[in-house]
Amino acid sequence: MRKGQLFIISGPSGAGKGTICRELVKESNVMFSVSYTTREPRPGEKEGVEYFFVTKGRFQELIEEEKLLEYALNFENFYGTPKAPVLLAIEEGKDVILDIDIKGALSIKKNYPDGIFIFILPPSMSELRKRITGRGTELPEAIALRMKGVLKEVSYIDKYDYCVVNDQLHEAVSRVKAIMMAEHSRVSADIYKLIETYKEEI
Ligand code: ADP
Ligand code: 5GP
Repeated sequence: MRKGQLFIISGPSGAGKGTICRELVKESNVMFSVSYTTREPRPGEKEGVEYFFVTKGRFQELIEEEKLLEYALNFENFYGTPKAPVLLAIEEGKDVILDIDIKGALSIKKNYPDGIFIFILPPSMSELRKRITGRGTELPEAIALRMKGVLKEVSYIDKYDYCVVNDQLHEAVSRVKAIMMAEHSRVSADIYKLIETYKEEI
């Protein structure tokens, strides 16, 4: 059976990564990997849906028990990708998307070079500010911290395979879906197996 593919989505906070991932899960047969975090849940966020919310102590245990595929410290909180469910889904032929920061993405790239790395950009800094502010989930200091980091973040774009500007949401989602479809159309070992079966029928 063909293995699933790992899609890694990164980009500045507020660019719309979470929103795009939610649409992709609704519209395609892809699994969103729910991360662990030590940050507080935002209003409306549910345990096991956006994140698994854990204490710093529990997060430390997860690191020591080698239960994370990668982890990083981000805005003073830890975030990490659970290893077992992601590897199992891929083994079972299911595609998986990770919404993770650049440090996490670079660490995945080292251990999992077959991943497909997609960078989401906002159409402008003013729109980004509007989106973070409009989300209403961060205090002004936290917003300032996130805005300050944007130029440094985008300087890593050359480590990614694709970039998508999230101006109109439906257009951005279609583009990410198109990337996924294109990646499934690569010449691969499965295609050679298919071609082998042609010989039996000649
Ligand atoms: P991220 O996960 O990158 O931090 P979110 O998905 O939380 O960003 O999006 C930040 C805010 O911007 C949310 O309030 C979301 O509804 C809004 N948003 C996302 N994409 C768009 C878009 N294309 N146009 C307008 N608003 C958007
Ligand atoms: P937020 O607090 O806005 O949900 O996320 C902050 C940042 O952490 C975002 O850039 C998001 O992509 C990143 N993030 C979420 N989960 C993970 C994870 O498991 N690992 C890493 N490295 N970053 C993550």
